[in-house]
Amino acid sequence: MIKKINHVAIIVPDLDSSLTFWRDALGLKVEHVEEVKSQESIVAFLPTGDSEIELVKPTSETSGAAKFLAKRGAGMHHIALEVDNLDEMLVDLKAKGIRLINETPIIAAGGYRAAFIHPESASGVLVELYQK
Ligand code: ZN
Repeated sequence: MIKKINHVAIIVPDLDSSLTFWRDALGLKVEHVEEVKSQESIVAFLPTGDSEIELVKPTSETSGAAKFLAKRGAGMHHIALEVDNLDEMLVDLKAKGIRLINETPIIAAGGYRAAFIHPESASGVLVELYQK
């Protein structure tokens, strides 16, 4: 079951210059900044009520985030939907022929389990399923 939008992730080339908008102009607070090894990125978490904006800065040239940035520039990267049972959801989606990027969960930001659905199956949007 989908519980809510957990976060929206935005790829940026430079955290400090992006924070001049998201933190300084909009007034959002940076809750914490964390290196997420599985995504080869540094992520700043800015809570927006019950959800978060995540600013993602790639730390390698080879990660998916870095390739996205090189190809398209800064911009929205993915929407994360919080689910109550990730394993069950992945089995169900696979049975429905949905194209999964991660057929088994990875460890995402915050140490939680997550899996990505290919944009080809999701109206052109990269969707992350995320379980707390
Ligand atoms: Zn995410």
